[in-house]
Amino acid sequence: MSSSSSAILAIDQGTTSSRAILFSQSGTLLKQVNQEFEQLFPQDGWVEHRPEDILSTVLAVSREMIDYATAEGLTIEGIGITNQRETTIIWDRKTGEAIYNAIVWQDRRTASLCEGLQEDGHLAFVNERSGLLLDPYFSATKAAWILDNVEGARARAEAGELCFGTVDSFLIWHLTNGEKHLTDATNASRTNLYNIMEHKWDDGLCELFRVPPSLLPEVKDCAADFGQTDPALFGTSYPICGVAGDQQAATIGQACFAEGAIKSTYGTGCFMLANTGANRLHSQNKLLSTIAYQIEGQATYGLEGSIFISGAIIQWLRDGLTILAHASESEAMATSLESNEGVYMVPALTGLGAPHWAPHARGAIYGITRDTGPAHFARAALESVAYQTHDLISAMAGDGITCKGLKVDGGMVANNWLMQFMADILDQPIARPVVAETTALGVAMLTMLQLGHVSSLSELETIWQLDADFSPAMTADERAPLIAGWQQAVTRTLG
Ligand code: ADP
Repeated sequence: MSSSSSAILAIDQGTTSSRAILFSQSGTLLKQVNQEFEQLFPQDGWVEHRPEDILSTVLAVSREMIDYATAEGLTIEGIGITNQRETTIIWDRKTGEAIYNAIVWQDRRTASLCEGLQEDGHLAFVNERSGLLLDPYFSATKAAWILDNVEGARARAEAGELCFGTVDSFLIWHLTNGEKHLTDATNASRTNLYNIMEHKWDDGLCELFRVPPSLLPEVKDCAADFGQTDPALFGTSYPICGVAGDQQAATIGQACFAEGAIKSTYGTGCFMLANTGANRLHSQNKLLSTIAYQIEGQATYGLEGSIFISGAIIQWLRDGLTILAHASESEAMATSLESNEGVYMVPALTGLGAPHWAPHARGAIYGITRDTGPAHFARAALESVAYQTHDLISAMAGDGITCKGLKVDGGMVANNWLMQFMADILDQPIARPVVAETTALGVAMLTMLQLGHVSSLSELETIWQLDADFSPAMTADERAPLIAGWQQAVTRTLG
């Protein structure tokens, strides 16, 4: 049994920053630290990170938390890792040096490759085995691009000299000083190379995407022995006990353990994940089937809807249009109006994700008049997040998932106006937890499980505490024309 002064270190390697968060053994957030790093945009639609920036920021924030724990007399019992998903790195198996920058999930450079595969009729095969679609979002075409564009890479890959990994895998390799080339089932399920029913890398998918299987890491459960950190890094060696991709980790941190439970995360984009239990669904509405978590060899599946722009539309109002100084000002601006006065914004700044998957669509604003001002823009932008959520819930309903309330997290959920409007548009209750860092909490929970503090994830359900809930208060007659107005705006945008 652990002592009351023991703690767990969660590493959250995100798209714009690396965080380290210290949790008590009962799941209380003790302290967190954050370091941003540079985003590289070498060409239109390309997004890269320097792998050394990913690693150095992770090491820096981890050391800061380890020093804090030591000063406070806390013993770190284990480490959990959650990460930006799909982002792809290929490195030298001997030196650990990456042969190209990390290609980030948002990167669209392989769009034509995906369109070619789709035209050649491979979608059904890919979807059946991986649960995913043919889109540059996923790792496989990014890996193939590196092998085809870095001189000598493909020959070195065939010779077994290189490793492929998502960010979790790259971090584990370096934290264990090259001892472990591992990933977990949730990260594997985002690559387009993993067979989510047979629980193994799929030879047919590897062949189709031209990624040699010799590159791939071993796939483990989410709570497992991922090796020990190199003592040279932190002075002491710590066991790595829990790993999950960020959205799956948030599903755990939100305690969505029951079949049908749904969480939705509102950061830069919005990612909704419904727990579908032991059933892998075949979506009729372009949603993704994925592994929500895997414990003791038993996969729990999820149905996911990914929207590329949610908080980012508020960022654009702030940094692009400069009509607000802080994202939080959007709340007062929206409240200053009685209604949207017919103004709708479709935030397709980088195309539309689920359920449309229209990479070439671009954003639009409809219904502006001479009375339209900045407040209308702010309100339309916030409303668009609620409408897009409504579209995902409808797509999920079409696939047989009945929404019985939504658990929300991410930077945007601080906006109370948006939360109430969303409850009204969905006609569903919305619950916001006390611990907003649900991704980090999720892998802290996996670490507790692996350390033997509990015997199942569901024993950790009580760690989830309610901060605020929002009940629907709009009549059907008020709701219907708003949704119709949005749908008309989307149809025009797609047209
Ligand atoms: P990420 O992890 O993707 O970087 P976060 O979860 O930190 O994102 O959320 C930040 C996003 O939330 C930003 O895009 C920001 O514009 C938006 N945001 C933050 N606070 C508010 C608010 N009060 N109202 C509306 N949007 C907000």
